[in-house]
Amino acid sequence: MNAIEVTNLVKTYNDKVAVNDISFTVEEGSFFAFLGANGAGKSTTIEILCTLRQATTGEVMVAGQSLGTLKGNEHIRRSIGIVFQQNLLDDYLTVYENIRHRGRFYQQSKKEFEANYAFVNHYLKLDDIAHKRYEKLSGGQRRRADIARALIHRPHILFLDEPTTGLDPQTRRFVWNAVRTLCQETNMTIFLTTHYMEEAAVADKIIIMKEGTIVAEGSPESLKAAYAADELIIVLKEDAELPAELHATKIGERYHFQLEDTRDALPLLLKLRPYIASFEVIKGSLDDVFIRLNEERRV
Ligand code: ADP
Repeated sequence: MNAIEVTNLVKTYNDKVAVNDISFTVEEGSFFAFLGANGAGKSTTIEILCTLRQATTGEVMVAGQSLGTLKGNEHIRRSIGIVFQQNLLDDYLTVYENIRHRGRFYQQSKKEFEANYAFVNHYLKLDDIAHKRYEKLSGGQRRRADIARALIHRPHILFLDEPTTGLDPQTRRFVWNAVRTLCQETNMTIFLTTHYMEEAAVADKIIIMKEGTIVAEGSPESLKAAYAADELIIVLKEDAELPAELHATKIGERYHFQLEDTRDALPLLLKLRPYIASFEVIKGSLDDVFIRLNEERRV
């Protein structure tokens, strides 16, 4: 089943087309990464999916409800959690008070709230910050609190808009592991935008947007296979020359061979063995995919 279905979505701001007829689905319980350079149309799309912005045309289903009707939008809002970049918590309340306040918004009884709080605390480890005022927290601690607040009503879909931007590597890893574990253990659908390709590398599905359209879609592996070549790089022994039948790109002292498949390095290395001083095989990365797709069409 799909948690999200987007069909022919268009959004224009006056005469600027921000989202240009995109269609895609996100499977329930999956980890979905929505990527693109600045201005690609990611925020506009997310804001539409979260009922914060109106589409110009197109159809959107979120958590089984059509977007656009009063009842549909209300249902969608109860089914989703949102963590955007700007903070929404009250500086003068403690983390616990902030989250309790949010629980009341969903009319949770004290008992229901405590059960949900235990659930979010399990994933976000709030004990050290629960009774600190939000304004006193570090960036990473705030992020934990932000995510906890977004989860207190146990949403089916969690939208995370660049959740780790600006965090130190250790905190990024913590936030990251918490989100992944949530997805794996609770069947929650995660809809993520990020600038960190290594975070998208574990997604079940990635979409890359450019100038309002989808330019690539698939699993990290399929995108790497399609858009990022592996490379064999060698350094020759002193006075050795590359056999004439082999073609490589020379950059400094290093010869680069593009590989269709990593295993193609093996016969090449056997052939080159007498000549090489050292070698390495570099796997194509999602960074390569992203750069390649953003360079294409510009030239
Ligand atoms: P992203 O999140 O990928 O950076 P956005 O959805 O923010 O992309 O923006 C897509 C395009 O729409 C950009 O060209 C941006 O300048 C334009 N845009 C975004 N919001 C508005 C707005 N409120 N009014 C006019 N243009 C906008």
